[in-house]
Amino acid sequence: MTPPDCPSASLRLQIDRQALAANWRALDRLSGNAQAGAAVKADAYGLGAVHAATVLREAGARQFFVAHCGEASELLPHIPAQEISVLHGPIDAQQAQFFKTAGVRPVVNSVQQARLWLDVGGGACDLMIDTGMNRLGICPGDYADETVAQLEVESLLSHLVSADEDGPLSEKQLRLFRDAAAVIPAKRRSLANSAGIALGADYHFDLTRPGLALYGGVPRPELADVIQQVAYPQVRVIQTRCVQQGDTVGYNAMFTAPHAMRTATLSLGYADGFLRSWPQGTAFRFGDHSLPLIGRISMDMVILDCTKVPDLAAGDWVDVPYDLTQASSSGLSPYEMLTLLGRRFDRVLV
Ligand SMILES: *Cc1c(COP(=O)(O)O)cnc(C)c1O
Repeated sequence: MTPPDCPSASLRLQIDRQALAANWRALDRLSGNAQAGAAVKADAYGLGAVHAATVLREAGARQFFVAHCGEASELLPHIPAQEISVLHGPIDAQQAQFFKTAGVRPVVNSVQQARLWLDVGGGACDLMIDTGMNRLGICPGDYADETVAQLEVESLLSHLVSADEDGPLSEKQLRLFRDAAAVIPAKRRSLANSAGIALGADYHFDLTRPGLALYGGVPRPELADVIQQVAYPQVRVIQTRCVQQGDTVGYNAMFTAPHAMRTATLSLGYADGFLRSWPQGTAFRFGDHSLPLIGRISMDMVILDCTKVPDLAAGDWVDVPYDLTQASSSGLSPYEMLTLLGRRFDRVLV
């Protein structure tokens, strides 16, 4: 007999499917003549790759980027193989064989990866060229390499270093990308991530690759009016307590009650991605009420001051502070805030 499932979650991540679809459509529109794809790597930035990719495909997306080979496997039952590209490329011959068998496109990032791909028979692939990131991608000296020349390149890619900032770097990368595109045959060219889309038509080419902005992040002010929040994390109260003046709360007695207080203990901790870098006083919300964080964040719990909310009770759902568009007081980037959300969240499309 299979053991019964836990009947209800105490951490949930509500994903607004309409907002997700609307964000893709807005980014596709802003991409002009180019088509917008979707970066769904890292479990769609923590929101759940299968859910997200399904919604994005319904909205019109036809090109999905994952980073790892295993992430492609997860999508394969839901997304046509030829619409999946794997950014890290084949790291060994076994992965190259998997891509070939599955019909997924590897992004070839080096002459060595080109060799691995050709050795399993080759076929359509994407090709990453380095224009300044110095992370992955072939360098100008290898554009004419005879192994690279044998590739059947669907999309020629490069990645912008700092499209979220103003400065000369993006323009320099644009020039280098055009130079590469002039000598490397490819069906399509793709340079822009979310922020790159906002840099204008010069950066759009044939395909754009938004990630962050799909999920509610706003990497440039030009996108502020078009991008909607998608992810809403919520957590349940496990118990409420009364503490007396002078009592301390939590590990290392970091908080001392200045007066008698009522507190609430919630089932969210750093193991769920709510890191200890969030400061004291960080405001959780219950309806219109604000509930400040007190004491040190534990692995599985946080403690809030709920003195002003006498009707808050065990089992209630509280909103976790999660505005991606505000520079976060935790010191985390919006990318980190999204991808840290742990496995204990029940991810639900609403
Ligand atoms: C992650 C990634 C993207 C998406 O970037 P965002 O800044 O999240 O829009 C696009 N292209 C590549 C190569 C990536 O690694």
